[in-house]
Amino acid sequence: MNKIVKTKAVVLKKINYGDTSIIASLYSEELGRISAILKGARKSKSKPGLIIDPINIVEIVLYNKSNREIQLISSADLLSNYLNIKEDIEKLKYAYATIELIQNLTIEGEKDLRLFKGLVKILELFNTSKEFTGVIFCRFFFFFIKELGYQFSLKKCTVCGREDISKEDLGFNFETGLLCSNCKKNNISTAEINQELFNFFTCLSNNKKISNNVKNLSSKAVYFMESYLKYHINTFTGLKSIKLID
Ligand SMILES: [Zn+2]
Repeated sequence: MNKIVKTKAVVLKKINYGDTSIIASLYSEELGRISAILKGARKSKSKPGLIIDPINIVEIVLYNKSNREIQLISSADLLSNYLNIKEDIEKLKYAYATIELIQNLTIEGEKDLRLFKGLVKILELFNTSKEFTGVIFCRFFFFFIKELGYQFSLKKCTVCGREDISKEDLGFNFETGLLCSNCKKNNISTAEINQELFNFFTCLSNNKKISNNVKNLSSKAVYFMESYLKYHINTFTGLKSIKLID
């Protein structure tokens, strides 16, 4: 059935199509991730053509047909172009990494309001927050892993169930999860997690402020979460945007 849908959406990417059109990938509030065509977008007078650009948040009107792979955009208005992100190479790199996660690991056409809100929130933080950009990205990455259903517990050893182990020499196995100092001896650790990194993840989990050693810890945390997701989702090959500049 044909339906007219008005929705907010974050532009993930766009490609040229035909002589004057573009096809965009969008993460929308109402329909989740979708592909949509904007006809005549590359004609010089097309205002929507300029607005549909990666990282921007827009409000669009679509002709949505549920059995069609590519929807048709009939109009677009800009809500924010996140100018501070685009003028800062570090922010831009992490914003693209955020988009990469959404583009590659969400299911097309599956609405997820919490993920949409999380995405908008993180773009706003990249744009205006004074917090270290890598830490902001870790906050999103941690939340995203939870949204995908692969959340890892930080409360107890996943083998023996013992709690209050934060001060111990911890291990981590991608299959089982966190290991206490005893279980670390008899189980293979597939990832290193020292106390500093453990505390960092605990702060992410509790949404607490992080101010020590942020550069080093955020890159360790990204590496950890990247490896963890690669283990669980074999189609995920890692984040390319971050490696471009590092
Ligand atoms: Zn244990």
